[in-house]
Amino acid sequence: MITTKRPDLAHNLLNEVWARHGEGYVSAGTAVAHIKELTLCLRKAWYEHHLEELGLPPAPEFGEEFTDATRLKIILGTAFGRYVNEDEERVTIDSTEGELSGRVDLMMWEPDAEAVALSEQGWLPVPAELKVTWSFNDSLQPQYKEQVAGYCIAKGVRKARIFVVRVSAKGGPSLACVEEEFTDEELAGWKAELERRTRQARGPTVPSYTEHWTWECKECRFNMKNGGGCEALDGKKGEGWFSEYGRDE
Ligand code: SF4
Repeated sequence: MITTKRPDLAHNLLNEVWARHGEGYVSAGTAVAHIKELTLCLRKAWYEHHLEELGLPPAPEFGEEFTDATRLKIILGTAFGRYVNEDEERVTIDSTEGELSGRVDLMMWEPDAEAVALSEQGWLPVPAELKVTWSFNDSLQPQYKEQVAGYCIAKGVRKARIFVVRVSAKGGPSLACVEEEFTDEELAGWKAELERRTRQARGPTVPSYTEHWTWECKECRFNMKNGGGCEALDGKKGEGWFSEYGRDE
């Protein structure tokens, strides 16, 4: 019997799976503003939308620069999401700033309490977002809440859910769910904020340094340290718009 290690074949298989993984990936910089993009660095969004004017190269293929180990980590982390995403639904917010769109991972349904009280048939959509993370940090990222609030506005409802798969949690992988119920006032305020952010991300001048999360800069291709034009070293450490609004625990 001859046993031969074939890392070349392992590498080829990984490349094939990676190619399939990337199918349907929407790159940044498209004309329509995405809700998720508006919960992240507005400077980055601005750069993505001004590549030509600034003489910058187009966005690289997603993950082009990743090592095999990083690719494998992403594929394993998102495998669960592939089944959930079969139900994904595209939603849009009616906005004077142009189309704001998003992709809801899972649309759940529950009886509409008011309709039931009136003895009518009725079901309410509850948009849900699935996040998969390898982070050991147990706290929920504030931008998840911002993202699902956008979906609530798009669907005209107040309740949304966030599912989080923690791949390397203590004691093994875990799946948790958090339900968010927003007030009408909060959603109206968040809609106005999304519109402000759209203006910033699409406007003629680069947004301020305060419009990003500190953790974003390290991997950002527009960071001066990575050969880009943005010299941001620090930014908002923020708790997210909803904590500023006084909702976070
Ligand atoms: S370096 Fe930081 S602030 Fe600048 S565009 Fe990138 S993420 Fe945003």
